[in-house]
Amino acid sequence: MKEIELSRSLYTAPRIEYVLEISGENVSACYQCGKCSAGCPSYSAMDISPHSVIRLLQLGQIEQVLRTEAIWLCASCQTCKVRCPKGVDLARIMEALRQIILRENISITNPSEIAEEELNNLPQIALIANFRKMTP
Ligand code: SF4
Ligand code: SF4
Repeated sequence: MKEIELSRSLYTAPRIEYVLEISGENVSACYQCGKCSAGCPSYSAMDISPHSVIRLLQLGQIEQVLRTEAIWLCASCQTCKVRCPKGVDLARIMEALRQIILRENISITNPSEIAEEELNNLPQIALIANFRKMTP
């Protein structure tokens, strides 16, 4: 298992504060009950659970969170918000994480790494939408 570096400075790092500023949510309020993940319709396809996204943010691990597929698979359905006993709006946090990637022009997709067969079979509109969002 990958080691996690912990320090107060990580939690107050500018990017974490940026997530909190964009989302307006308090990740510290989450006590990891898991009700958000239990009701999430996208959970089975995610690489980490919704409540783990919050936990990693609590631990200052934003770089790790920004590399997950989970933030792109969130459908913003707000089931998690409705179920959360602490009133945490996870959909807003997921959107804030996506916004950081888009605003910082972080490249998620490398067109040259897409297999020719996929290029031929995927809908062109999906490819164009992907390149607009996922490449600087
Ligand atoms: S439902 Fe709320 S308190 Fe429970 S794990 Fe999810 S975000 Fe945290
Ligand atoms: S808003 Fe996103 S994380 Fe929350 S339940 Fe819906 S798909 Fe899952």
